[in-house]
Amino acid sequence: SQKKPTYRRILLKLSGEALMGQSDYGISADVAERLARELGELIEAGVQVALVVGGGNIFRGVGLAGRGMDRVTGDQMGMLATVINALALQDAIENQGMTARVMSAIRINQVCEDYIRRRAIRHLEKGRVAIFAAGTGNPFFTTDSAASLRAIEINADLMLKATKVDGIYSADPVSDSSARRYTHLTYDEVIDQRLAVMDTTAIVLCRDNGMPLRVFDINRAGDLLRIVDGATDVGTLVD
Ligand code: UDP
Repeated sequence: SQKKPTYRRILLKLSGEALMGQSDYGISADVAERLARELGELIEAGVQVALVVGGGNIFRGVGLAGRGMDRVTGDQMGMLATVINALALQDAIENQGMTARVMSAIRINQVCEDYIRRRAIRHLEKGRVAIFAAGTGNPFFTTDSAASLRAIEINADLMLKATKVDGIYSADPVSDSSARRYTHLTYDEVIDQRLAVMDTTAIVLCRDNGMPLRVFDINRAGDLLRIVDGATDVGTLVD
């Protein structure tokens, strides 16, 4: 019989940018397929998988707001962008033979389900990938905050934040060769040292509700599976 994963239920936060691949806009079908394959390994291992996806590859509210557009309208456009990404991921995941359900924080129920907590948990228990779209449903928030909120709501064992580097560094590892990777930080260290991981709202939500967070590199094949198996040398743990 199969060995049980260390983490039974996870919430993975993917930024919109993680879906772009080599281009500087939109969704790469190759990237979506690769992500879906990795998620398949988790489902296969018996892990319940929830996703929150951003929208930065399509639209960010603050962008046009800086040039005269109403911020709330801009944020609504940003939230709709996350729905577009969520639908692309749902499709890619189902192409790999799994079942996925997009659940939106804004009602667009001819396109996807509404987010209803108890129904979301049921999907997870049945082995379906639950994709939480439209962030928190509120302007002035981010999808990082939505990820913290949903992870707490569904009682995830771990929240995973996918980035382009393998964890949290003391400085930008791309431009500073003295930058060192932290293996572990407390929530308050992240906040006090202003380490650019997630916005403060998202970190505080995790801190106040005891939701552990691991920051890791989404481009390293196999790391997701190693994390749910309990590897402690992948990325940075914040708890
Ligand atoms: N957004 C929002 N409320 C939320 C989540 C997102 O208004 O709860 C809007 C906001 O305009 C944001 C955009 O959606 O800029 C895309 O989300 P985000 O910037 O978090 O995406 P990511 O950087 O993860 O791709």
